[in-house]
Formats: sequence, structure tokens, C-alpha cells
Amino acid sequence: METPPVKLKYLTTALAAALCITGTGTGFAQDSAPSVAKVTAATPPPKLIVMIAVDQFSADLFAQYRGHFTGGLARLVSGAVFPSGYQSHGATETCPGHSTILTGNHPAHTGIIANNYFDLTAAREDKRLYCAEDETVAGTSSGSGKYAPSVNHLLVPTLGDLMKARDPKAQVVSVAGKDRAAIMMGGRKADELVWLAPTGLTSYRGTLLSPTATQAGTAIAAAIAQPRPGLPLPADCTAQDIGIPVGDRVLGNGRLARDGGDFRGFMASPEADGAVLAAGAALRQARKLGEGPATDLLILGLSATDYVGHNSGTEGTEMCLQMMGLDRELGDFFARLDATGIDYAVALTADHGGHDIPERNRQNGWPAAERVDAALDPDAVAKVVADKLGLPQPLLYSDGPFGDMYLAKTLTAAQRKAAMAEFINRFRAFPQVEAVVTGEELAARPISKQAPDVWSMLDKLRASYNPQRSGDFIVVLKPRVTPIADTSRGYVATHGSVWDYDRRVPMLFWRKGLAGFEQPNAVMTVDILPTLASLIGLTLDANKIDGRCLDLLSGPESSCR
Ligand SMILES: [Zn+2]
Repeated sequence: METPPVKLKYLTTALAAALCITGTGTGFAQDSAPSVAKVTAATPPPKLIVMIAVDQFSADLFAQYRGHFTGGLARLVSGAVFPSGYQSHGATETCPGHSTILTGNHPAHTGIIANNYFDLTAAREDKRLYCAEDETVAGTSSGSGKYAPSVNHLLVPTLGDLMKARDPKAQVVSVAGKDRAAIMMGGRKADELVWLAPTGLTSYRGTLLSPTATQAGTAIAAAIAQPRPGLPLPADCTAQDIGIPVGDRVLGNGRLARDGGDFRGFMASPEADGAVLAAGAALRQARKLGEGPATDLLILGLSATDYVGHNSGTEGTEMCLQMMGLDRELGDFFARLDATGIDYAVALTADHGGHDIPERNRQNGWPAAERVDAALDPDAVAKVVADKLGLPQPLLYSDGPFGDMYLAKTLTAAQRKAAMAEFINRFRAFPQVEAVVTGEELAARPISKQAPDVWSMLDKLRASYNPQRSGDFIVVLKPRVTPIADTSRGYVATHGSVWDYDRRVPMLFWRKGLAGFEQPNAVMTVDILPTLASLIGLTLDANKIDGRCLDLLSGPESSCR
């Protein structure tokens, strides 16, 4: 096979060469075809749908960098642009967010209410369940690396599942940086489903990777083993080049340099996204996605933006380098896809938004930004409540200082009532707590049918509430309280709140010949499934979908059938 020339030092191109992917990436692909037939309601369905989720790509980041994109994101901005997309639910974490994108359902219905939730009736000792694991596998726990990845917790079908149910010849491939992204978007019937690992690519336990995935994994592992010098800072990023002390570190002026073999450093850089895109391109080529009789689906979960956000916040050179790298990697990927001549459609969104570190927010016009009070520790609160009421420990199960909280199952009805009242009072007394809401309150509410920008806090929490899986009560922090008290190790910024900076995400649709338009009104990521289904003539049961079809044709015609 002919090896295309390596023009860029970024990974898509380097890996593409290693994987013999045809076509030449330019990194700055634009739709420059001289005469492209305009897409109308009569245009046949695309042969390939490319669904891209960029982890933590908030509507704020999109707005900030939109004018700077020249690559793949610039191309998508020329299509149907919904800048006010919403992950409308309250628990804005990675797993719930990815579960909405290709199911058309809120987490209340997908069952993916959080990255981690509790099942106190689980047979195993560790009652904390990871969203994408099978806790019934002997010897597992939700602690890092000790779980068996699984799609079992997802309660609804994905687009790929529905496409394959309609036509078994439809192929579905899902590649992501994180297992939960590949799994929650890929669903149960994907032909190939892989994610990044220190060894390159991996999948479910016991799954033999295809020869192409094995080859891609080997190339990715070789890339991880190489050290990476700091990336040169583009002119667009120089204004952000200001160091800021956070704990005993200085952030904000980083260049994403890393040592050879540093997998965490690899994941928090455009390299990781390039690896996913290159692996996706290689698998598409090997399986001839978009070249068969049915429409195929290629799912790409780009996780690096999230790791950069967690490690460094959103407003330093680190994120600027990531945004520029992502744009270029996507451009390279699209250019290679263009070279195949396949009629493909792209949808891009995010699993949640994000928020900058309070230290920099305080410098940049938001003096009230703060970190959560270390005293707001559910274990400490539980100890006080247990001592006061004479109840046994463990009394309360939680995954952090906010979100779902579960009372021990061993309590009598009277003890439970007393403990609940005491917990609610104590949590409400913390100045950083906005509200404490019970599961009972949420269970009694219908899911809102209004546009997501006018949802109340209870509406948001209701869309995250599943009676079998949610907590007995939910703690909501005030806006701009970063729920990381100790920055000495690990992450400095995060997401997960009910506030709009964590809920708002761009929703972009592009297809060759699609006339572009902008629709700034609020739409939802649960609208993506019905929108794509309509594009390929796939009939859905509206009673099983929370979203609605978005018309992608400007003017009087509609793409919603
Ligand atoms: Zn995250």
C-alpha cells in the first residue's frame, strides 16, 4: 500500500502514514469543491454518518475560539450551527452526557445518571458502580482499572443499535479516548468498539481486536512511548500565556510537554484526539464504511479537551493549544475522508460544558469564584449525624461533596426519616449549598417539555433522576463553586453542576452541499438522534424519545420526515 507523505508533526498524519490510510491530510481542510449539488429534501441519505463528541467542549469554548478555527471546526461552522445546544439535565458528567447523544433520551431514561452511582443491594462488597462496568463479574470493583467494562447499565438503544436492527448490513464503529464515551455512544451492537489505553487500543475483556485495530494500537503505543517537547505557541494563544499559582504548581502557561511513556500527558493533548481520529480513519478504510449498500456509522469520542480542562482549566495556553490542535486534527481527518469521495454527514457536540479554575476567574473579573469548603465532606457530615442519632456507620454513600447521596439500607423507617431530616438540615446550612432536593420530590415531577434554557433547577435534576438508581437526596452547590477542595494532587477544575456553563454545548451539523445557517435558540443533545435518524429515513417511536428532529435544511424544505 502506498504511504502518503507526512506533512505535519501532529499524530493523525504520522499515524495515518503508519496505518497506510489513503488520502493526504492538509490539516487545514476547507470545503473548496467548485460545484457541489445543494442538499435538498430529495437528496438520498448520506452513506456514512460521522458522530463526533468532544469531551468538555463547552458552548463558551466554542464561542471563544470560533473565529480562530481554520481546520475541521471551521468547516463545521459552515454547516447548520446550533450554538446554544444543551446537555439539559442536572448531573453534567461524562457518562450521562455521552448517553444522551445517540439515544435521544435524558439520563432519567438512559439510566446513566452519573459517572458513578450506588447500588446498596449489589452483591459485591463495593457498592459504588461505574456507569460503564459489569459489577456482576467476580473480583471487580469500581476503583480504577479493576472493573469489567460493559454496556449493561445503558437502558435504551443507540442510533447504531437501531440502524443495525433495521438493516444488519449497516456497520457501526465506535472509537474514543475513554471507554464510557465509546460504549455509551456505540451501544450494544457495534461491529467494533475500542478506546485508548497505555497499550494503545483496548476493548471489552476477552475481545480480540481486529488486525487494523491491533495495528493502530501498536502505532499509538509507539507514539505514547516517545517524549513530546512543548508545542510551539501560535500567535492566537499568546495573550493567554500568563502563569498562575494553583497550590504548589504554576498553570496557565504550559506547552503540553511530556515524558516518553507518560500516558496521562498523552491523553491531555491533541495527540490523543489525533490517535482516535487516525484509528477511526483506519477502521473506516479497512471495513469500507460508507462504501456498502447501507448507511454506516462512525463514532468518535475525542477526550483530550476534557483532560486539559481538568488539569489546567479553560483559559490558559494549555486549552488554547488543545483547541488549535483539535481543529487541525479534525481538518486532517475530514481531508482524508474527502479523498474517498464518500457522501458523509458529520454531527459534532459535547458531553458537557466546563468551567475555569477559581484562581483565574478571580483575576479575570469574577472575584466571587471559590473552591468548595473542605468541611463539606459527606463522610464528615455522616459521622456527625450518626453520632447525634446513635446510628451505625456507614450511614451515607456518596461520590463527592455534591450530587446523589444514598442512605444505608439497614435503617428502620423511623431512623431513615430522622437521618434524612438531619442530613437535609446540615447540608442546607453550608453557605456554598444552593439546595438539597429529595428523590421523592423529583419522582413526583414530569420531565419538562419546555426549551432547556428556561428549565428550573428541579427540571434539570428531574432529567437526571432515575428511581432505580438515583440517590435519596441530591446536594446542589451554588454557581461557580468548584467542587475540588484540594488541588495538591490531580485535577484543578471540573464540571458536573446544574449551571449553564456545564450544560451548554455547541451542536454542529455538516454535509457537503448543505447550505449553512445559524439557529441560536436553545436545542438539546437529545435532539441529535431524531435529527440523524430522519436524515437516513429511520423511523423512531416518538414515545421512546425525549428529543425532536431538528430541520437541517435552510429555507422552506425540511430534513425532518
Ligand atoms: Zn470531565
